[in-house]
Amino acid sequence: THEQEFIQAQQFLKEHDQFLVVSHVQPDGDAVSSTLVVGWLLSCLGKKYVMVNEGPIPKRMEILENSEDIVDLSQQPLDETFDYIVCVDCADFKRTGKTSLLFSEHARILNIDHHPTNNGFGTFNLIVEKAAATAEILFDLITFMGIKLNLATATALYTGLLTDTGGFRYSNTSPKVMETASKLLEYGVDGPGLSELFLEQMTFPQLKLLTRVLNGLQMSGDGKISWVTVDDGDLSATGAIHEDMEGIVNYPRNIQGVEVGLLFKVIDETAVKVSMRSAGKVDVARVAQHFGGGGHVRAAGARLEGKLDDVIRRVIEQVKAEL
Ligand code: 5GP
Ligand code: MN
Ligand code: MN
Repeated sequence: THEQEFIQAQQFLKEHDQFLVVSHVQPDGDAVSSTLVVGWLLSCLGKKYVMVNEGPIPKRMEILENSEDIVDLSQQPLDETFDYIVCVDCADFKRTGKTSLLFSEHARILNIDHHPTNNGFGTFNLIVEKAAATAEILFDLITFMGIKLNLATATALYTGLLTDTGGFRYSNTSPKVMETASKLLEYGVDGPGLSELFLEQMTFPQLKLLTRVLNGLQMSGDGKISWVTVDDGDLSATGAIHEDMEGIVNYPRNIQGVEVGLLFKVIDETAVKVSMRSAGKVDVARVAQHFGGGGHVRAAGARLEGKLDDVIRRVIEQVKAEL
């Protein structure tokens, strides 16, 4: 068990007065939810805190209570620094992005995460690899601390579980995930409404982006690797925004016979972000780590320097080595 880590985490939150709460760049449902849940937990303890992300949070997450309190550093720079940091859902320090500019020189970091590739960059680390989402760890921490949940926080926790398990379908959907979700539903969480909002609904530009990107889908000769690419031209041609790329990588992965699906997102002339999904045979976290990234066995990512064609060639070569 992780009892010692839970005790340390509780102590860290209780013995200091002011905190900075951050998650990873381009935050997903688990990152946003976990940020809000830690903020709520700190408010229960009577602490001061600021929640920050490097960029904006995805639009549809604005229904989560207090999400408007998460400072978007790209819009609202802060010149303060903080001594006590809580990082959620960040596999390594780099994932905190520009929020790390707000960490003071002697900052002490509580690192709460569920990525097996987490390198333990915190002063204190509460890393539970078996957890499907950081939200699952936070639910256990709140229970451990004997604090009673409210509906808004239960909704945020459910959102983290829902999005990181792909709607309670991926292999990380353990009996404990279902038990936790069940307890959250008892608080009155609108499960079907959240599924509809986070997993079913698409904006029209998002659908146009999907059809455009799938038009360029590629397949390796053996049919085991499939990939798509996106650049800013695709976004502007369809009116889509960055967060609309979420989920596209599942399409190549879902093709029968495909072991690894990839999405290459051109950042600029010199860098490409790659999202990797595995059907189970290939540990894509290993592939991602080879390029300085990380993640989970079946879902991982990395940022590579280089031009698109070159990056595609290098990643596919590495995936083939793992097949
Ligand atoms: P996605 O492809 O949806 O961006 O990310 C899939 C998984 O890989 C997530 O668990 C995410 O946290 C992780 N991941 C994505 N990009 C990176 C990266 O650049 N570095 C690390 N360490 N993990 C990443
Ligand atoms: Mn995440
Ligand atoms: Mn997560």
